[in-house]
Amino acid sequence: MSLYQDAHLHLQDPRLMENLGSIIPAIKDQGINALVVNGTSPDDWDSVTELSKAYPDLVIPSYGLHPWKTPCTRDDWKTLLTQLITDNPKSCIGECGLDRWIRDPDREAQQDAFKFQLDLASRLNRPISIHVLKAWGWLLEILESSNLPNRGFMLHSFGGSIEVAQQLVKLGAYFSFSGYFLQDRKFEVQEAFRHIPIDRILIETDAPDMLAPKKFITHPLEEKTNHPANLVATARGLATLLAIDIDELSSQLEANFTRFFLAK
Ligand SMILES: [Zn+2]
Repeated sequence: MSLYQDAHLHLQDPRLMENLGSIIPAIKDQGINALVVNGTSPDDWDSVTELSKAYPDLVIPSYGLHPWKTPCTRDDWKTLLTQLITDNPKSCIGECGLDRWIRDPDREAQQDAFKFQLDLASRLNRPISIHVLKAWGWLLEILESSNLPNRGFMLHSFGGSIEVAQQLVKLGAYFSFSGYFLQDRKFEVQEAFRHIPIDRILIETDAPDMLAPKKFITHPLEEKTNHPANLVATARGLATLLAIDIDELSSQLEANFTRFFLAK
């Protein structure tokens, strides 16, 4: 049986937590053996820790301040985050990033939060999960003038162009594909993935968000809620898109996941 790893999701979201009793067995049944669970602000970091303790062989905790949650309501979030990350050597950083798609983004607060988290990831050489919407030039500017983690960094639900991808590849990026981009109208993102080196590709659900088109949903939940076990159907869609065999893809994805998330 092929094994799969979800590089980015939010299992702590109440929409998933209320169904956890059926979600966990469904995940295991699909051969999914790792979930990188991303916190988004101090409000959900404790739930992420609890999940990693309840499912230590499955959940890898990741702590971050999401750009939609900036400026943070807690003044001490940087201290708290640093503490969590240093206390647990297996933890990752994120979800963090830059977003000019939301209404009235606070650019200064976003940049300050992102730079802080990028610097923490670089100093400790930890995996970092970056969210970027309509902010590619801004991201490249920051990356090119910052220290970057030796292991590289990950763009989650990557939705950029071939040109952006090529610049990011040179800087050491990994690109995580989500089922949402299997929609026909997302052909530009699909084309970008065909140009990304295969050893830089990861896969995720971003559950409970970023639902794939209907034919890639094997595990329906209530309206528009993405079930983490849909990951394998997304992998099948990605294999078709890249014109490679699904078993070959799953071994490649596992090797990439191990190199990026698990290497010391
Ligand atoms: Zn996310």
